[in-house]
Amino acid sequence: MQTVTLNNGIKMPIIGFGVYQIPNAEECENAVYEALMTGYRLIDTAAGYLNEEAVGRAIKRSGVPRKELFITTKLWVQDADFESAKLAFSKSLNKLQLDYLDLYLIHQPFGNYYGAWRAMEDMYREGKVKAIGVSNFLPDRLMDLIVHNEILPAVNQVETHPFYHQIDSAAFMKEQGIQHQSWAPFAEGLNNMFGNDALVSIAEKHNKSVAQVVLRWLVQRGVVVIPKSVRKERIVENFNIFDFELSEGDIEQISTLDTGESLFLSYRDPEVAKMMGNWRVEL
Ligand code: NAP
Repeated sequence: MQTVTLNNGIKMPIIGFGVYQIPNAEECENAVYEALMTGYRLIDTAAGYLNEEAVGRAIKRSGVPRKELFITTKLWVQDADFESAKLAFSKSLNKLQLDYLDLYLIHQPFGNYYGAWRAMEDMYREGKVKAIGVSNFLPDRLMDLIVHNEILPAVNQVETHPFYHQIDSAAFMKEQGIQHQSWAPFAEGLNNMFGNDALVSIAEKHNKSVAQVVLRWLVQRGVVVIPKSVRKERIVENFNIFDFELSEGDIEQISTLDTGESLFLSYRDPEVAKMMGNWRVEL
C-alpha cells in the first residue's frame, strides 16, 4: 500500500474509501466490507453521514487487524465546541466500535471550531487519535487556526477533481506541511466528468477508465484520494491505479480542465455558513 507520511510521522494510505451519501445501513456495510476485501485500508466517514455504525460493523466483519486500518471520521458543526467535541468524539468511537481513531477532522470551518480544536489537541495528546486535521478550510482560515493553536493540522480534506485543482490551496498546504486530501475526486459525476473528451482520450491511450485516470492524476500530485462507490466492480476498478503512469502531456491536458471554482458550494458565501450552522445531525 502506497502511503504518505503526515507532519507527525504517522503513515496514511494514499487511497481510501469514502462513504458519503450511502444512507442505507446494509448497503454501506456491504460497500465498506467489499472495499476492505479489495485491499483498501483507509475508510473515510463522518458523524454527519449517519453511517458510522454500518462502517463499524463492516470493519468487524472484515477481520482486518486494527493496526492495518486507517479510520477517519469528522466532527459536525453543531458539536464544534470544547465539551461537545469530546462527547461527539466518544459517540463516534462507540458507533465505529473502536478504541482509538486514526484521523479526526473538523468537518466544516463553522461554529466554535477553535474550542473543538483544543479538545482535539487534548484527545491527540491522550493517544485517543493518531492525527487531527480539518476539512474545507481555505488558506486564510488554516493560517488563523495555525497561529492561535499548538498542534498543526495534519490533513486538510477539500474538494479536488479535474474541474477544480485547488492550485493555490495545494501550494499553501505544502508550504505548511499539511497533507492535501481530495473529496469528490470524480466531482460526483457532475459536468459529465466520465464522458469528458480529454479524460476519455487519456484513458483510451492507457487502456484504463476515466475514473482510474482521475485517481492516478491526484495520486501523482501526492493528493490522498477517497473515491466512493457502492458497486463491487467499481470499488475494485478504483483501487487499481498503480500499474500505469500519466505523462507530462497527459497532466498538461488535464490542467486545461481546471475552472478554479467549486462545482458545489463557496466557503465564502454567508448563505452556506447559515445553512451549515442550521444543519442538525442526530448523534
Ligand atoms: P465521488 O467519489 O467524486 O463520486 C461518487 C460517484 O461516482 C457516485 O455516484 C458513484 O456511483 C460514481 N462512481 C464511483 N466510481 C465510479 C467509476 N469507477 N465509474 C463511474 N462512476 C463511478 O463523490 P463523493 O462520494 O462525494 O466523494 C468521495 C468521498 O469524499 C465521500 O464519500 C466522502 O467520504 C468524502 N467527502 C467529503 C466531503 C467533506 O466536506 N469533507 C464532501 C464530500 C465528500 P456508484 O456509487 O453508483 O458507483
